[in-house]
Amino acid sequence: MTECVFCKIANGEIATNLVAESEHAVAFNDIHPAQPIHVLVVPKRHFTDIADLAAADEVVLLDLLKLGTKVADEMSTGSFRFQFNTGAEAGQTVFHAHGHITSRTPRL
Ligand code: AMP
Ligand code: ZN
Repeated sequence: MTECVFCKIANGEIATNLVAESEHAVAFNDIHPAQPIHVLVVPKRHFTDIADLAAADEVVLLDLLKLGTKVADEMSTGSFRFQFNTGAEAGQTVFHAHGHITSRTPRL
């Protein structure tokens, strides 16, 4: 049993409305949105952060980046940030790798 909240979301233990899914990653809305669009993209398998993921599995890394950019393109006008807070001092609070997609310009 894992105590990791993003593992629980990825394996369905915690219900969430998925925005999108790929073979190795899921995308869902951030519970505390900082901008009109605020989506998190996380690998289905547990990695501590993006550096851990990049070192461990290029296939999962590419799959996650492609899912994130696809979601960002579909939901925004094309102006967005895709940000990976890495380490507590950089603001990381959930230690399961995740990218934040934020945008102020939703596609209507
Ligand atoms: P970070 O500070 O980069 O680790 O980002 C963690 C993000 O996860 C924050 O923006 C939180 O609002 C978000 N978050 C934490 N728990 C949940 C949850 N159960 N569902 C959706 N987003 C969450
Ligand atoms: Zn996890």
